[in-house]
Formats: sequence, structure tokens, C-alpha cells
Amino acid sequence: MTAKKVKVRFAPSPTGDLHVGNIRTALFDWAYARHTGGTFLFRIEDTDTTRVTDEYIQAAIDTLKWLGLQWDEGPEVGGPNGPYLQSQRLDIYAEWAKKFLEQGDAYHCYCSPEELEAVREEQRKANVAPGYNGHCRELTADQIAAYKADGREAVVRMRMPDGTTTFVDEIRGEVTFDHKFVPDFVMVRADGSPLYTLAVAVDDVMMGVTHVLRGEDLLSSTPRQIRVYQAMGIKPEDYPAFAHLPFVMGQDNAKLSKRNGEVSIAWYREQGYLPEAICNYLALLGWSPGDDRENISMKELTELFTVEKVHSSPARFDMKKLEAINGDKIRALSLEDFAHWTLPFLIKAKVISGTDAEIALVKKALPLIQERIVKLDEAPALLKFLFVTEFSVDEDAVSKITDGSAKDILKRSLKELEGVDSWSHDSIEAVLRASLIEELGLKPRIAFTALRIATTGSTISPPLFESMELLGKQACLDRITAALAL
Ligand code: GLU
Repeated sequence: MTAKKVKVRFAPSPTGDLHVGNIRTALFDWAYARHTGGTFLFRIEDTDTTRVTDEYIQAAIDTLKWLGLQWDEGPEVGGPNGPYLQSQRLDIYAEWAKKFLEQGDAYHCYCSPEELEAVREEQRKANVAPGYNGHCRELTADQIAAYKADGREAVVRMRMPDGTTTFVDEIRGEVTFDHKFVPDFVMVRADGSPLYTLAVAVDDVMMGVTHVLRGEDLLSSTPRQIRVYQAMGIKPEDYPAFAHLPFVMGQDNAKLSKRNGEVSIAWYREQGYLPEAICNYLALLGWSPGDDRENISMKELTELFTVEKVHSSPARFDMKKLEAINGDKIRALSLEDFAHWTLPFLIKAKVISGTDAEIALVKKALPLIQERIVKLDEAPALLKFLFVTEFSVDEDAVSKITDGSAKDILKRSLKELEGVDSWSHDSIEAVLRASLIEELGLKPRIAFTALRIATTGSTISPPLFESMELLGKQACLDRITAALAL
């Protein structure tokens, strides 16, 4: 790549929650900027006011922040090239469109939707490439006057000359588009609002973007953007470099979508995936560090990321691998960080309300589950036994503690536990093993399952003796007594 100071941009059109593909793009842009000591610019492409909402814009901003992909220029932080919302830059696009009209690079097109549809229909029948037929390219003054008298409104179309556009994609190599397949395109709607191709190209130039790293779905828009650069008078050596990232496919090898996988990053966040796990996993979708390691920190990513190591072939999304990485990242958290990420899940699930006493107890319990969970949303079910005021036993577990042998186990445990003075998991375990396992000869699984259900209400819990210690002696005795009455 060139020696210019790198400036990359992430430029989503927030018409919904950001999805896996968007974030993979944002991550690669961010990593490339950090790797090169360049600038990461964040721009909101919100010219399609029918589909972009303020909520989605805010959600996009929040998602990038949550992921730790801090931008150097863009919404909230500002910068020398703002505003960074395209809806606030409409005058700029209008001025350029006017200039293109004056230069003859663009023209007014008065064709009605019905006429355009008729052209498409003919093209379908003749089996030729669809696209505008150039009808309004050379209108006379009289024709224009007649259209206007007719009350027709005009869009602005860019003139695509005959020939081809060739550029070097940093991932795919040389790419050539024959303009037979790139017809004159609309860049300003009849209501004066700009279309994507105009706004994106103008902004990339005016904001000094040096590298456009984005999804492969936008590859085919590149010749149109280059046409806009030409009309702006930009020299080819000053065009941004392009690098189109490979598609992300679902398990079924079709492009990842709502239909074949979960695409919204908000969903992953709700499920309890850590931002660092998401970034780690997405980094491996289409890029590799050059060896087979799969656990990568954000710091390592910025050290190792180069566009040369991005693959051109599609990447496949693998939920199991993401889960495994998330589990690894959870286990690597400090207790403070683990608490920071888990507390909101416990509060949302109404397991705790967030008092200091509750938080202190959560912190004691967290080490018991850190090795066991792969997603933070598993924490509430595992820890709720510590906080319930009205204790109850899971429906499917009740039958396991109401038969005679279970009752015997619980009766004996109650008697033994009443005599334990120093309530620690070691002494609880020692007493129960001596009486239930050694003396009565019970299998540990049977003896301790009954106790687990009686004290935590469930067959699944953190380690039993530690759980009993945290629960406290009186609560354990009360719960076993209540279980005996079931
Ligand atoms: N705003 C475009 C989109 O979300 C992407 C613009 C670009 O990266 O060129 O699809």
C-alpha cells in the first residue's frame, strides 16, 4: 500500500442494528488504522431518510463504543472534516452535483418510473444487460421545456462513457468493469436528495480517505465511485485504494443473513458475548494472523493486522467457535472485570437489585462459575439460589428429592450439618463425606444430587460445598427442612 498516512473509514447506513458483516468491516478498518498509526474515521451514511432512524444511528455509535473500536474522527468526537452525518452535508453534495451538470458529466433525466420499467422489460425480452438506455442524455431545449411543462421532475444522472474502469483491489488484484454493465446512474433524486454513490465518493475524497476497506457486496459500486472522482477532477494517484473484504457465509454456505444465522450484534451482546470475544472471532473471518492461533487480543490484532493477510475467498461463520472463544475470554477475565460484565445480566434478570451487599456476595460466587459458563447470560440461573427470598425447587427436580431414599439422605445431612460449627466448604464436605459416603456407603452422585437440589433448588449449580458455604448455615438448614416437607 502507499506511503501516505493511512486514513480509513467505517461508513454504515444504519437502517437496522449493525450486523456481523458491518462489524467485521469496522474491525478491519480500525485494526488497519491502528496497525499503521493512521486515522480511523466513522461516518454515518444516513441519506436514505425513509430507512435510517435516529435510534439506529445511536445504536451504531453505542455498538462501536461497546466493542472498543474507538474512532479518531466522527460523531461525538468531531474532527477537521465534519459533519460526519451525511444528512448534515446535503449542501456539499448539491454543489458537486451542480458542478457535474455544468461540466456535462451529469444530466437531468425526466424518464418516468413507468418508462424505465418499459425499458427494463424490453431488455429482459432481448436478453441484454439491464440498465438505463441513455434516453435523456442529449435532450434538446425544446424537449426539456416540454417535459417541464408536463410537470415532470428530473433526477440527476451521471454519464458513464463507453469503455472500462480498471482498478487494483488490494485483496482481489486487478479488477475491470466494462461500462456496458455500468449504465448511467442516478446520483440525485427528484426531491434533490443525494444517492449513496454521490455522497460516498464525495465524502471519501473530501475527508481525505486513503483506503476503502469494505464488504465485497460493494465491489460493483466501485466503478461508479471512480467516475465521481474523475468528475471531481481527482487524479488517479489520489484515488483511495480499495480492498473488498470477503463475504461472510452462514453454516449452509449461503450469505449470512437473518435466515441462516444470527446477524445482529445486539443479539450477541444480549446473549452475553464479550466484545473482545466478538472482535477476536470476527478478526478470524477472512483474515488470519499467519499461524493457527485462535485466541487473539485486540493488541495483538493491531500489531499483526495487514491487508495482505486478508483472504479473498468467503469466510464461514461458526457459532461453536465463537462460543469457545467467548468461554476462553470469560475465563481470562480478572474478578473485577468478570463482575463488571456479569452484574448487568444479574440485575436485568432481577436476580439482584444491585445493593452493595448483593454485589459483595456475587463477587464471592463468581469464581465458582467462571470456569463453567461460555456466555454471561448463563450466570443468573446459576447464581439465583443465593438471592431468592422465597425458596422453591425446580419442577423437574422435585421428584428427585421426594422418594424415601432421598429423604433419608436429607434427614441425615440435616442432623450432621446442625453440628458443624465453622461453616466452611471444607468442613461441610468432610462431615457429609464421612456420614453419607463412608458410613452409609452412598454413591457421591446420588447423595450430593439430593443435597444440591435441596439447597440450590436445581440439579445444576456451582460446586455444591462452596455454594452451601456462601448460602450460610441457617439458610441451608432451613432449605433442607423445607425440602423434607415436600
Ligand atoms: N453505507 C454503505 C453501507 O452501509 C457502505 C459504504 C461504503 O463502505 O462504501 O452499505
